[in-house]
Amino acid sequence: IAKALNKKTNIDKIDPINKMSHNAQFTNLRNFNYYDFQTDMSNHTLAEYIWIDGTGKNLRSKTRVYEKKIEKLEDLDWWTYDGSSCSQAVTGDSEIWLKPVYMCKDPFRKNIHGLLVLCETYQGDRTTPARGNFRYLTKKIMDEAQHEEPWFGIEQEYFLFSRTGTTHAWPLGWPEGGFPNPQGRYYCSVGDFNCFGRAITEAHIRCCLAAGIKIAGINAEVAPGQWEYQIGITKGIECGDQMWMSRYILLRLGEEMGAHVVFDPKPIKGDWNGSGAHTNYSTNKTRADGGLDYILNNHLPKLKEKHLEHILVYGEGNKARLTGSYETSSIHTFSYGEGSRASSVRIPVYTTGLKKGYYEDRRPASNIDPYLVSGILVDTTVLDSKY
Ligand code: ADP
Ligand code: MN
Ligand code: MN
Ligand code: MN
Ligand code: MN
Repeated sequence: IAKALNKKTNIDKIDPINKMSHNAQFTNLRNFNYYDFQTDMSNHTLAEYIWIDGTGKNLRSKTRVYEKKIEKLEDLDWWTYDGSSCSQAVTGDSEIWLKPVYMCKDPFRKNIHGLLVLCETYQGDRTTPARGNFRYLTKKIMDEAQHEEPWFGIEQEYFLFSRTGTTHAWPLGWPEGGFPNPQGRYYCSVGDFNCFGRAITEAHIRCCLAAGIKIAGINAEVAPGQWEYQIGITKGIECGDQMWMSRYILLRLGEEMGAHVVFDPKPIKGDWNGSGAHTNYSTNKTRADGGLDYILNNHLPKLKEKHLEHILVYGEGNKARLTGSYETSSIHTFSYGEGSRASSVRIPVYTTGLKKGYYEDRRPASNIDPYLVSGILVDTTVLDSKY
């Protein structure tokens, strides 16, 4: 057949598709508006099943068509996928189960009933959590700690990179392979020479709101091409669910708009800001009268004692970020301060003013699993490290 088609049969000589430039590859697709179809699909649902793979960091998703209108989580079936392609199973026994746990409106699918469906992953027995499923444990912790009503607000920092060729990428706004003007002018900046990628962040805030995700704000960060958004206030397990969903939406926008979203805590070595995921946290005891004293005398001593355990789940590669410079504390010691951005935990002025409220754990890195971080905070402070 290859001969008949006059194709080269030597596999090494076949031009790999990634030799084509990004634009050449996608120009036709980008001019094609797939929202234009007017087919009547009023009785269908397109459900995008989303899960965390075996790396614990990357998201995967696939679409399932339902020939009915799905209105609630219970109407969605469990589903399976090839775990051997997601670092979660061996090829000979590859089925991993998807259990829908959280859904919201799909902001990408117009003119049709579309849902984004976040799933937990389970092994063949449908009971043992698969590799990368940390929601399983955090859900237990949140259920047991329900009486103290834990609330969270996470500040997700990240970089936007653009492609400089087929395999390399470099932050938006940076000269190809080189460096921009030193930091100082970029944080919360405005203007073409300072601020890069706003179209994506602007689309992100709208998509999150359309989906029903509690995005609280956005700002340009200290390094050029670096951004932050906040998700909160979220309650209990909702924190991890909404954080992962907001990341999925951001990654999809990057895909559509030609930008690579980088959650690495220190993507560029040297005098350039790292990325964190400051986690703001409160319980009904810290929010009640006397809450500041409760934070100082109950929560903080427990956090100090469990500092190393926390660092273990506060992100891979965090050591390169928590140096004590660039508004961070040292990874080796636990510290806190009122209004201090050089300590592990900062007590915000709102909390010192009212003598109750929340505090900010500044240690978590941008690539955390928010389930693990919200989970360990509650386990340490409310359940006295039961898990
Ligand atoms: P920063 O001053 O560190 O940049 P941000 O304004 O970026 O702070 O983020 C503060 C976060 O704290 C928001 O996501 C907000 O929802 C959250 N937050 C506010 N009050 C509480 C609270 N009582 N408990 C938990 N989180 C809270
Ligand atoms: Mn197949
Ligand atoms: Mn912030
Ligand atoms: Mn920030
Ligand atoms: Mn912060």
